[in-house]
Amino acid sequence: MVRVRFAPSPTGRLHLGNARTAVLNALFSAHHGGVVVLRIDDTDDARCRPEYVQDIYRDLRWLGLSWDEEFTQSSNADKRRAMFQTLKNSGRLYPCFETPEQLTQWREDQLSKNLPPHYDRVKGKSVPAHDRPYWRFALSQQEIKWQDLIQGSMVCDTRHLSDPVVMRHDGAMSYVLASVMDDVDRRITHIIRGADHLTNTAIQIEMFHALGADMPCWAHFPLMLDQNGDKFSKRSGSKTLQELREEGWLPLAIVQAVTQLGLSHQISGDFAHMAAQFSLSEYSKANGKFSMHDVEMIQSRLWSNMTYQDLSPDLQRCIDPNLWPVVRDNVVLAGDVPLWQQICTDPHWVAPDGVDWSQLPLDFCDLAIDVLKSGGIVKQLDEKSGNMVWQTDPWHHWINGLLAACPELKKGLVARTLRMILTGRTGGPKMEDLLPVISPKIVQARLEHRKH
Ligand code: GLU
Repeated sequence: MVRVRFAPSPTGRLHLGNARTAVLNALFSAHHGGVVVLRIDDTDDARCRPEYVQDIYRDLRWLGLSWDEEFTQSSNADKRRAMFQTLKNSGRLYPCFETPEQLTQWREDQLSKNLPPHYDRVKGKSVPAHDRPYWRFALSQQEIKWQDLIQGSMVCDTRHLSDPVVMRHDGAMSYVLASVMDDVDRRITHIIRGADHLTNTAIQIEMFHALGADMPCWAHFPLMLDQNGDKFSKRSGSKTLQELREEGWLPLAIVQAVTQLGLSHQISGDFAHMAAQFSLSEYSKANGKFSMHDVEMIQSRLWSNMTYQDLSPDLQRCIDPNLWPVVRDNVVLAGDVPLWQQICTDPHWVAPDGVDWSQLPLDFCDLAIDVLKSGGIVKQLDEKSGNMVWQTDPWHHWINGLLAACPELKKGLVARTLRMILTGRTGGPKMEDLLPVISPKIVQARLEHRKH
């Protein structure tokens, strides 16, 4: 049975990089009918905050992800202590007594002699015991090889690495060992994480061996880079999931975007569909460039494929059913939905004035109103209320009427101007589709408002 884990630290809010790890683990597990373990890495007491744990739950649920088992690293301390004792007994751990100052000094000396700043096990053992020790794990000092499910054949010579510190003077266990012990305890079969953890892998493989545990499979997906080739960070536009939610991004767009990165074919569909198609071997080992523009493209596609019934109840309340098919190709963020409703139906909404009046006759708006009223474009429902309805194909009749009344006007300019007066923007749905869903009364009022 496949068992994966997602192990966020509650030291901050989840961001797109975390979402990618969570999503790829969840898809892999779902593809294999496996188990997802949510491990909250809360051993770094100083930086962990309980409210971030709540945020993690909320953000994962928002993404549509679920998990089968859950635990906090802090709750597993007893089991890790027992495993630590086993490692100690096996001779793979050794106590060290240098002070942090001595270690820094030693490191600087090595560097000044152009030597690698590796910890010298032999020299370290000669430091007299003076206090509570800290502990290191003795690496085997040989080549460690593994077959990474994304990176392929990997080799790391642990002779080039310092023996890692596994327990500090104060008894706190390091992440590298604690993570292995918890993975052993939970019988994790696949460790799927970012390539930034590759440097830990050889060490962790040695630790799995030393604990006599079954070796999990490893998959390190490439880094997310920004358009400059730097690590995708807050500066490159990386946002927390909470920010993305508040800005009106769809969870499925986020899930698709982080899954897409590193694949050469285009993915689509909901989580179940993506899980059915999912394969780690299709991911490229090359780091991939990412930007919010990728999410925007995906999100636009998602809206375009949604019927009114597919919208959330909240969004259904924001827009009339007949408007949705007209505007859905022009929605990116959720906030665009009420905006189009407003543009089409709110008599008090004032479009920003982006018209270049220099190219137009001064009485353009009067002319447009006249043609509207007299050109068989609208039909007066009853005299008293002044209510009007559109006749068929009002947009083309209106434009043609205006050009006939004022032949020196250019068609493109007329169309752009009317679009700007009515919607306050240069782009949007085709005007022949949009005009019929705006009431003639509102159209007339917007023209009156722009009169010179
Ligand atoms: N808490 C670690 C992190 O967020 C987990 C690393 C791992 O997957 O092993 O980086």
